[in-house]
Amino acid sequence: MANPTVENLVIIGSGPAGYTAAIYAGRANLKPLVFEGFQAGGLPGGQLMTTTEVENFPGFPDGIMGPQLMDQMKAQAVRWGAELYTEDVTHVDFSQRPFVIRSEEREVLAHSVVIATGATAKRLHLPSETEFWSRGISACAICDGATPIFRNQEIVVIGGGDTAAEEAVYLTKYGSHVHLLVRTDKMRASKAMQDRVLNSPKITVHWNTEAIDVYGAEGWMQGVKVKNRQTGEESQIPAKGLFYAIGHSPNTSLFTGQIDLDEIGYIVPKNHVETNIEGVYAAGDVQDHEFRQGITAAGTGCMAAMLAERWLSANDLAQEFHQTEVAEPHLTEETPRKTEAEQADEFSVAQTRHVGGYALRKLYHDSDRLIMVKYASPTCGPCHTLKPMLSKVVDEFDGQIHYIEIDIEQDPEIAESAGVVGTPTVQFFRDKALVTEIKGVKPKSQYRETIQSNLPIAVS
Ligand SMILES: Cc1cc2nc3c(=O)[nH]c(=O)nc-3n(C[C@H](O)[C@H](O)[C@H](O)COP(=O)(O)OP(=O)(O)OC[C@H]3O[C@@H](n4cnc5c(N)ncnc54)[C@H](O)[C@@H]3O)c2cc1C
Repeated sequence: MANPTVENLVIIGSGPAGYTAAIYAGRANLKPLVFEGFQAGGLPGGQLMTTTEVENFPGFPDGIMGPQLMDQMKAQAVRWGAELYTEDVTHVDFSQRPFVIRSEEREVLAHSVVIATGATAKRLHLPSETEFWSRGISACAICDGATPIFRNQEIVVIGGGDTAAEEAVYLTKYGSHVHLLVRTDKMRASKAMQDRVLNSPKITVHWNTEAIDVYGAEGWMQGVKVKNRQTGEESQIPAKGLFYAIGHSPNTSLFTGQIDLDEIGYIVPKNHVETNIEGVYAAGDVQDHEFRQGITAAGTGCMAAMLAERWLSANDLAQEFHQTEVAEPHLTEETPRKTEAEQADEFSVAQTRHVGGYALRKLYHDSDRLIMVKYASPTCGPCHTLKPMLSKVVDEFDGQIHYIEIDIEQDPEIAESAGVVGTPTVQFFRDKALVTEIKGVKPKSQYRETIQSNLPIAVS
């Protein structure tokens, strides 16, 4: 007899692998519980939240923005009954059954687990890297190489292994010339791959060379500053693209000592997605150091959920949750552009929530409440993550603060005058002065505490 306090299936991770597993398990009436992650090993929604156009995911002939694709996968998982928690798993115990899975906020027991925690592309952390990330710099040639900005342009690839060699060859299809920076005087790539690189008239290998920074203009990368490690000589390679091919780190530190990992830390799969522990499956980039694509991650997520279902049934552990009504999909809608006159018509100083530049200007001058301004852009994955989190915090302070959402594509001049250089950024104003600013996505508690500490002290 199934124990109702034990989950059928817990899925750890919310990239294409995790959400696909959730869709399949939901459709099998298993009501999976998903730890979407928060900050460990990337973002809720996974790596595709950090990219722009995804042009190779089947079903989208015109391409689709990475965050939008992930929003749709999430909506589909929710629609089929998946229960989502935007939390990092901090501990697992697979030595006992049911398995134990713990986050900062809860501990759950589960008969089966799908690990879909992905991998993180290594970065060099060059001084100007953040400024030009996705504006010339990428960690995925297969994903981004074909985009128009790299066509017939000089491109730099960094790395000396098989991936770097493959990517350099691949990028010759698009770029006018490819420069491969290798730190030493030899490559680690296989001889066959080295031959392809060295015989290509479109590739120049810069031996003993490392990148020390990038430079650019008008927000786009224009070249790479390099240094010869033998002579110390510094020079510049003008280029519109820089691709890192220096490896990935699988997000598996949580599972060390619990399941079999290879020497790099990837989960070692058996029969595609099984692990050495019955009932624990691994899907996506966390077990795949070869293909690392959205569609392969989704494919293995599907396999993992199907095998988990079979295993639960075979062991008489599955508890079915029949859905009488399928939940409506919740897609994040983009805010439609409103004219200044429409914004003025709808404006009321009594409201807590506002959108657009008109409200910001009015409230900045007229409001005596704390003003919280969120600057976001439609293509920014972390902005999608922050939106529902911030919304909950705003509900807690209804009537006490003003909250204004600014789309920096619609109101670029406001973002510029506020000194916003990245999204999401949240600024807090009181008495016409900036009190503080929070960049990126932080835990809800940080926004809550910032508001609390800046509310007027109640006089009794
Ligand atoms: C810039 C860029 C562009 C790309 N473009 C393309 C493209 O155009 N087409 C394509 O097919 N592929 C593309 N890829 C590759 C693709 O994104 C990955 O192959 C795919 O996202 C892997 O999916 P995944 O589900 O295995 O893992 P990920 O997408 O890496 O997701 C991992 C998930 O695990 C969560 N997580 C990690 N640790 C924990 C924890 N402790 N607790 C809870 N959750 C945790 C993270 O929050 C995240 O949600 C791109 C990758 C990058 C970096």
